[in-house]
Amino acid sequence: RTVYVNGDYLPEDQATVSVFDRGFLMADGVYEVVSVLDGKLLDFDGHLVRLKRSLDELSMDNPLSDDDYLAAFRALVERNGITDGMIYLQVTRGNPGDRDFAYPPAGTRPTVVMFTQSKPGLADAPAAKTGWKIISIPDQRWARRDIKTVQLLYPSMAKMEAKARGVDDAWLVEDGLVTEGTSNNTYIVKNGTIVTRALSNDILHGITRAAVLRFAAEAQMQVEERSFTIAEAQAADEAFITSASAFVMPVVEIDGAAVGTGQVGPVATRLREIYLEESRKAAI
Ligand code: PLP
Repeated sequence: RTVYVNGDYLPEDQATVSVFDRGFLMADGVYEVVSVLDGKLLDFDGHLVRLKRSLDELSMDNPLSDDDYLAAFRALVERNGITDGMIYLQVTRGNPGDRDFAYPPAGTRPTVVMFTQSKPGLADAPAAKTGWKIISIPDQRWARRDIKTVQLLYPSMAKMEAKARGVDDAWLVEDGLVTEGTSNNTYIVKNGTIVTRALSNDILHGITRAAVLRFAAEAQMQVEERSFTIAEAQAADEAFITSASAFVMPVVEIDGAAVGTGQVGPVATRLREIYLEESRKAAI
C-alpha cells in the first residue's frame, strides 16, 4: 500500500513519523475519514470544512489547500486501486523537538498523514439488512467532542465492552441522555418522527448526519433535534446510526430489548437508500 506523509507517497513500510510528534505523545491532532464508492469521494467538501474547524479550535494551521487534499486523496485512490473503501487523513501538531505541554512555536510544521483502506462491497454491508445490536455505557470522554481529535481511547474501550458483550456497538449516555455512538451519531424514530440529539460540544457534528437530515427534510419526513433516553430509544419504532463509513445503519436491539419489531424498519431503510443514491450522485 502507498501512503502519504508530508507530501511524499511512500510504501507503507518506509513511511515514518518522529517519536516526538505531538500526535504520538499527546494525541494532539485531528482526523477525517472519507468514504470511497466506485473510486469517488463521498461528502469531500463537508469533511474538509469540518477538518478546518477542528484545526481552528486547536489553533493549528491548515497545512494544505483544498486542492492539495483533493489531489492527494485522488492519487491515493488511484495508486492503491481503491474502488470501495475509505481514506484516512490525520493532521498532528508535528515535532517540536522536546516534549512540552505548551504548543510549539508558530512555524512548527504539522505532520500530515493519509492512507487508504480497501473495503470491497462497502455499500452492501450485510448488517444493513439485519441491523446492529448495541449496549449503553456511560459517556466518559472529554467535553469537546465536537473536535475530531485522534484521542480515541474511551471510544475504543467502549467498542471492546460491546464486543465482549457480543454486540456491535455502544451508545454513550451522559446525564441520562444518549450523546452518540462510539463512532457515529444516533437516532430514533417514533410515529414517523426522526429524533436526534441537537448539535453542541457534546457530540461530533457528523457529516453524514448533516446529509441525512437534509435528505429527510427533502423527503418531507419530520425531524426533531433533541436528546433522548435509552428507555425512550427502547420504546421507539426504529433506531439507527449514521457515519461516513457505515452510512445509515439500523439498530434493532438496545441493552437486550428489541426496538420496535426487532427487525430493520422502513425509515432507516429508506434513508440508507436515499443517502447512498444521493451521495453517489454528488461524489467527486
Ligand atoms: N460521532 C463520533 C464520535 C464519530 O467518531 C463519528 C465518525 O467517526 C461520527 C459521530 C459520525 O461522523 P461522520 O458522519 O462525519 O462520519
